[in-house]
Amino acid sequence: MCSFRTYLLIALVIAAFIGTSVGDENRVPPLQGWRIVDLTHELNDSSPVYPGSVGFRLKNLVPIEKGYYTNEFSMGEHVGTHVDAPAHFSADGKSMSRVSMQRLTGPLVVIDVKEEVAKNPDLAVCIKHIRRHEQKHGAIPPGAFVVANTGWASRWKDAKSYVNLGQDNLPHFPGFSESAAKYLANERKAIGMGIDTLSTDVGTSKDFPQHRAFLGGGGVNLENLTNLDKLPSRGAFLFVAPLKIGNGSGGPARVVAFLRNDRSGE
Ligand SMILES: [Zn+2]
Repeated sequence: MCSFRTYLLIALVIAAFIGTSVGDENRVPPLQGWRIVDLTHELNDSSPVYPGSVGFRLKNLVPIEKGYYTNEFSMGEHVGTHVDAPAHFSADGKSMSRVSMQRLTGPLVVIDVKEEVAKNPDLAVCIKHIRRHEQKHGAIPPGAFVVANTGWASRWKDAKSYVNLGQDNLPHFPGFSESAAKYLANERKAIGMGIDTLSTDVGTSKDFPQHRAFLGGGGVNLENLTNLDKLPSRGAFLFVAPLKIGNGSGGPARVVAFLRNDRSGE
């Protein structure tokens, strides 16, 4: 059993890390001057799911009236804000618990395609969009996470509009093209790709070329991100903490961006 002092120490460290209980001026020195942006949706039983997936459920085991409060939850691995491990699309790819934290932290690049998506929900973010971003903001650094801000996160609370099933019975939302995945993996040595929709492939895709190309090369995908509007095009640092599921094809994650206060938009 932990002593009270140990609990107190743990509580203080967590409070300092999250910054909810202590003001910025009281933070431990390494986090002073940094802004923390949570890119994670809340999980609940109305969280949108990819067609065919198993949604999030919370079942109470002990109510607080009995002296303490605890639940059990169940969900598909790819529900809510989550990571796709290489094993999701690659027979010899790493499963979730085998992806090291070195491959889950890195500089963050945010490509804004909201204007295009407003006109075309089936948009595939392609090399053209990446090059346009690089011309404006500089080359994508090696070891980065490259995410698309499509504006889709604003639909999250309306699951029907987030999934956006069409007359063809296929979901319609934006994603990345296969060539974008290959360019980022091979030419830019990106370790992660991410998006604020249900999938890094466009919704109508049936063969998931972005997943095959990027996870096949050992990268990870981040799906159902939020709060991307609160980030600059580059300059933030990403920390991804998925559940360490043994043999998992992926897993729900807390995804957090760190941004120096003196670096606003770039
Ligand atoms: Zn996934």
